[in-house]
Amino acid sequence: MNYRKVAMEHDKKIALVAHDNKKKDLLEWAKFNRDLLAHHKVYATGTTGELLEKELGFKINKLQSGPLGGDQQIGAKITENKIDFLIFFWDPLEPVPHDPDVKALLRMAMVWNIPTACNRSSADFMISSPLMDGEYDRLVPDYESYRTRKIPQVNS
Ligand code: PGA
Repeated sequence: MNYRKVAMEHDKKIALVAHDNKKKDLLEWAKFNRDLLAHHKVYATGTTGELLEKELGFKINKLQSGPLGGDQQIGAKITENKIDFLIFFWDPLEPVPHDPDVKALLRMAMVWNIPTACNRSSADFMISSPLMDGEYDRLVPDYESYRTRKIPQVNS
């Protein structure tokens, strides 16, 4: 597999999402790391974003609420290189109506090699990494061979 480099700039495009039982965790984490987060461009699903904006006092780019398509919007932005960092506190103990979207978002994050933290300790390690405040070349598989793969032709 060949790789190509995708530049992550000094100011990262960070998506924050938390399921209802994890919102308190995410808010506490974001409040504690407010100054580290403040210079990045922060996106969030609708309800998470409302709460974060109140707590942090700076602009959050709010998308749809998760069950209404917000997770899918983040996934789409990942494919367009408009999100390059994901903090997603999903709830392992409660089923959600948009479970396929949760899975799809996590899958897109893997396809595009997006740094992803799904719990508070991972988020702590990520936010305190020296890589956080510099430029970083993310290696993304070169999917050209997939795009140009041979598809069986329909017989005429
Ligand atoms: P919410 O969505 O921030 O609108 O609650 C989160 C989610 O369930 O994915």
